[in-house]
Amino acid sequence: MPNTAIPLEALRGSGADIQAIQIPYVRHPDQDVAEPVQHPVVIVGAGPVGLSLAIDLAQRGQPVVVLDNDCKLSTGSRAICFSKRTLEIWDRLGVGQPMVDKGVSWNLGKVFAQDQSLYQFDLLPEDGHERPAFINLQQYYVEAYLVERALQLPLIDLRWHSKVTALTPRADGASVTVETPDGDYRIEAQWVLACDGSRSPLRGLLGQESHGRIFRDRFLIADVKMHADFPTERWFWFDPPFHPGQSVLLHRQPDDVWRVDFQLGWDADPEEEKRPENIVPRIRALLGKDADFELEWASVYTFACLRMDRFVHGRVVFAGDSAHGVSPFGARGANSGVQDAENLAWKLDRVLRAQADEALIDTYGAEREYAADENIRNSTRATDFITPKSEISRLFRDAALALAREHEFARRIVNSGRLSVPATLHYSPLNTPDGEVFDGTQLPGAVLSDAPMRRPGDAATIWLLRALGSDFTLLHFGPTPAWAIELAGVTNLSIASEGEAHAAHADLLDVQGLAAKRLDARAGTSYLLRPDQHVCARWRRPDEAGVRAALQRACSATASAV
Ligand SMILES: Cc1cc2nc3c(=O)[nH]c(=O)nc-3n(C[C@H](O)[C@H](O)[C@H](O)COP(=O)(O)OP(=O)(O)OC[C@H]3O[C@@H](n4cnc5c(N)ncnc54)[C@H](O)[C@@H]3O)c2cc1C
Repeated sequence: MPNTAIPLEALRGSGADIQAIQIPYVRHPDQDVAEPVQHPVVIVGAGPVGLSLAIDLAQRGQPVVVLDNDCKLSTGSRAICFSKRTLEIWDRLGVGQPMVDKGVSWNLGKVFAQDQSLYQFDLLPEDGHERPAFINLQQYYVEAYLVERALQLPLIDLRWHSKVTALTPRADGASVTVETPDGDYRIEAQWVLACDGSRSPLRGLLGQESHGRIFRDRFLIADVKMHADFPTERWFWFDPPFHPGQSVLLHRQPDDVWRVDFQLGWDADPEEEKRPENIVPRIRALLGKDADFELEWASVYTFACLRMDRFVHGRVVFAGDSAHGVSPFGARGANSGVQDAENLAWKLDRVLRAQADEALIDTYGAEREYAADENIRNSTRATDFITPKSEISRLFRDAALALAREHEFARRIVNSGRLSVPATLHYSPLNTPDGEVFDGTQLPGAVLSDAPMRRPGDAATIWLLRALGSDFTLLHFGPTPAWAIELAGVTNLSIASEGEAHAAHADLLDVQGLAAKRLDARAGTSYLLRPDQHVCARWRRPDEAGVRAALQRACSATASAV
């Protein structure tokens, strides 16, 4: 089988082992047949998004071919900050734990101006969540753990050294030409999922473009190996004495590697700035002249916020960086791409099983285009604040920084990169609007908040998100109604507070009452959750007809704008 060509032990090795992996080329049987072989799903790109999507589909029982032009995992200074939501999705895909075990967990950020601390913020200021706000983990580890998981799933056919060079879309699929070291071959796909990164050759092959803004600034991003006793927090400086007039960001990564991100200004020469003799003095200015460190990797970037007008083009669907791009301030790139993958996976699974009309895929487009706009808005605001476009904007920015030392209101204006949170899909056609009054943030379209639970008779904590079904879930605060047991494809979970009359018969005990609090639930309240753990309907007292209608709506909505 082609997959065995990957050195499995290296996937759990150190960063150096992982970056050294060169996956050998293996000829595939599809190359030796007269007629192109038909596949239901072909994913182009084995980055974090393509791999997450492949695992999700395979776990749902769908066979998937994944094509990647490369023979290596991610190299160099790419993503490091992975959000709580991404970890929760990866938990469902069976890879959250290795990511957390290896990664550096953090919740706290600090903002400095010149040589003074301005304020600090906590991205997860409450207890009762399994996962931290963020982990920092090099993208090559992320990809290694995803590849390891993909290799455990026989439905995933991972083909390296396989570059897609032509795409002929049709109403019922697409024909894909794959270039290999042995020459070209063709395969047929019912669906092509383009996860081929920001330059997306598939976007070009379809004659599509991304539109948006390129920011006139350059950033030096350096990964430095050193022993340092800085705390595990995100530190952001405006105009520090060691790099006057510009910004600097510092993050801890595993293996004593630190990410330092220096704003350089638009006039900086990227080639000059990449030379170690120019990078080392910048790092010494930050760490002290006697600091002992090794430079692991450095790149100079210009950032952009762009997106395709539409993510769904018939049977070719774009996800991740191929569909949208943001500047890294806020860590939204890979995090939002993994959310694309989870949104698309359950919908495509339903369509392939003929349990939903193809219009459901259009709702992927509508929901994730809405999320991309929100991300781009946040990322643009942060980048504009960090890189003021005019003298007036710089004056405003500096005034906000000066006021933030003393005044709480000004801290809300300071923007060092608001960090990734999942979009609430407020206007999704899949939501059933509330018919009753609820408090709090868990409205239709929101991702369910986690909470600690336990099973009756078992002292161990289990987490609410982990207890959900892989399809739809109905959470009942009280006994499960008899009619709900008959609902196809629905996992019913009855939740009780400790000591409540039906506690012994409940599926889950809300040990700290946090689930009921976060969901503003009373006896009889029910929440309907989609397979991607977004709330799609809720009732104070559900009836069968209402729940069936909400389920129908969540699976068969015709495309309309969100
Ligand atoms: C400096 C920097 C810091 C960042 N920090 C963060 C962060 O902290 N958090 C975060 O969430 N994001 C961050 N990002 C963004 C993150 O790296 C990307 O959003 C993420 O890699 C996108 O994943 P993807 O799977 O969509 O695309 P990619 O990771 O680009 O993967 C695309 C894959 O497609 C393959 N491919 C391309 N063309 C073809 C073809 N023709 N045929 C077959 N295969 C093809 C490529 O080889 C590649 O493997 C950062 C980015 C940069 C540059």
